[in-house]
Amino acid sequence: MNEQGVASRQDDFELPGVPDAFQRLWTPHRLAYVKGGQQQVTGEHNCPFCEAPGRGDAESLIVYRGALVYAVLNLFPYNPGHLLVCPYRHVPDYTDLTVAETAEFAAVSQQAMRVLRAVSNPSGFNLGMNQGETGGAGIASHLHQHIVPRWGGDGNFLPIIAGTKAITQTLGDVREQLAGAWGSHG
Ligand SMILES: [Zn+2]
Repeated sequence: MNEQGVASRQDDFELPGVPDAFQRLWTPHRLAYVKGGQQQVTGEHNCPFCEAPGRGDAESLIVYRGALVYAVLNLFPYNPGHLLVCPYRHVPDYTDLTVAETAEFAAVSQQAMRVLRAVSNPSGFNLGMNQGETGGAGIASHLHQHIVPRWGGDGNFLPIIAGTKAITQTLGDVREQLAGAWGSHG
């Protein structure tokens, strides 16, 4: 994603009708992604995925905290409800996960799909991990699995990742819905 692409996706959240309070709440986190992006993350001390669990759920947009992994809303959603499942440990590659982390990573990904189905009834999903900068990872040094709910007519994958869609529900509302539903759909 080039500089311009990042800027245009950021603009998606400054459309009329998006509450101002949310803008202020999220600006620092968004800056962490936008300003330096990949290059800014040099280790655990300035990694957004390491820092997020240290803040409150609402502030960090965390939907669920497990023992070894957590689920968080993507700041730059391709679709409403776009979740990321991350290990707490700062490791870059899927093969770096322990057996226990791999099991929980999978279980939380499955639960994320169940919760998204219950809350917003998507007709499909894209799941995946971009490995390394060449593989397209925005923050390559900290593993994260994308879980993107899909609906018929939501556009093909390219316009979605180009950031051209307007997200109509605020991230705070989406987080509350998903976090509230998490425990009740086994
Ligand atoms: Zn990290």
